[in-house]
Amino acid sequence: MTQPLPVIIVGAGMAAYGVAREFRKLDKTTALLIVSSDQAGAYAKPMLSNALAMGKDAAQLLSHSAAQMAATLDATIVGGVDITTIDPAARTIGSADGRSFAYRDLVLALGASPIRLPLGGDGAAAVLSVNHLDDYALLRTALAGLGRPARVTILGAGLIGCEFADDLVAGGHQVTLVDPHPRPLAALAAPALSAALVAAWAPLPITLKLGTTASVVRRQGAALVVELADGSAVDADIVLSAVGLRPAIALAQSAGLATARGIVIDPFGRTSAAHVYALGDCAEYRTGAGGGAVMPYVAPLLLAARAIGATLAGTPTPIVLRNDAVVVKTASLKLALAPPPAGSTGAWIHVDDGERIVARFVDGAGIVRGFGLSLHTPALRNALMAELDQAHQGAGAQG
Ligand SMILES: Cc1cc2nc3c(=O)[nH]c(=O)nc-3n(C[C@H](O)[C@H](O)[C@H](O)COP(=O)(O)OP(=O)(O)OC[C@H]3O[C@@H](n4cnc5c(N)ncnc54)[C@H](O)[C@@H]3O)c2cc1C
Repeated sequence: MTQPLPVIIVGAGMAAYGVAREFRKLDKTTALLIVSSDQAGAYAKPMLSNALAMGKDAAQLLSHSAAQMAATLDATIVGGVDITTIDPAARTIGSADGRSFAYRDLVLALGASPIRLPLGGDGAAAVLSVNHLDDYALLRTALAGLGRPARVTILGAGLIGCEFADDLVAGGHQVTLVDPHPRPLAALAAPALSAALVAAWAPLPITLKLGTTASVVRRQGAALVVELADGSAVDADIVLSAVGLRPAIALAQSAGLATARGIVIDPFGRTSAAHVYALGDCAEYRTGAGGGAVMPYVAPLLLAARAIGATLAGTPTPIVLRNDAVVVKTASLKLALAPPPAGSTGAWIHVDDGERIVARFVDGAGIVRGFGLSLHTPALRNALMAELDQAHQGAGAQG
């Protein structure tokens, strides 16, 4: 008798384990196979940018080993296997080491890769980026190897760059933050909130090099020198790149699946190939009116995991995304940001009561499209979120 085919999930990040958990709650019998190029341990990735101040190393951030996850999920978990092919017609995937796995349904939870700046110089290869627990382990090793506080240059003052800056100085290190924009968090936050963050950092060993970019990283003895486009140079022990992520679409592309910035999925999380789903950092979600967006955050992937898990268990369930604020883990200044959709036109308007800043992004029709808060509380975030939802519903009714 032939064995029923398993549901296969490729990847072992929060998206993969999110789907696996949701699926197993509803379906206790179908075989579940999780295949990942890493060692498939489970960890909360957002912790990577605030673990230094807490003194946590990579092992302490690992919540469960692959074996523990396999037992919890009643799944087979294969780590260290890179999936290189998908044959949607045959319903098989193939690995770099020549193995083939047949699936009933396939879930791609492949994540994203750090964007590498085109840097010159013999130190360019030494630039680190942290998008995985193993990357964090490398950063910890580099910091510990110095035996003294490190001079860290961070390329990129977006969400991740700012969080690492804050975490590194809290951990006793010195930071230089480089960004082409004139202010940190430029793509996400109101100017008033960026200014408030800069003010909160003023007493800390954080040097801002804004309005310029790194062009060369060269070695100087055991250290590095970062040459900037404005002609200045920064001495560093460690250079950390945080300039953004690129969704992992190559595997899907080579199998003929529809891709744009991410792997294109419909409201049910289905890709353009039958029986193949995607979610998390690799996916491009439908956002209504035929639009799509990558959403490299935890909240959307948890919503997608719940819906796809239910669909795979036999109840077709659409992914219902909701607007959510991203909590920026900068301990120096608590921020929550719900930026307007990319390409929105309008202006930030803010109220500063001397203690807290509340900023709203308002479009030409007076509709609130985004917001940002300092010193936020759940109640305040929810109130602003409700305002945003209401404005969207109103805009929908008008449109
Ligand atoms: C430092 C940092 C801080 C963050 N902070 C926050 C935060 O505060 N709030 C928030 O909402 N979001 C935050 N995020 C984003 C959030 O953590 C991510 O959106 C989420 O973890 C992505 O999960 P994922 O499973 O899609 O991808 P990943 O965690 O990248 O997992 C991808 C998996 O796929 C595997 N894989 C890839 N290709 C293959 C292949 N070909 N074959 C086999 N396996 C493969 C990888 O080994 C990996 O296991 C942060 C991200 C970072 C980097």
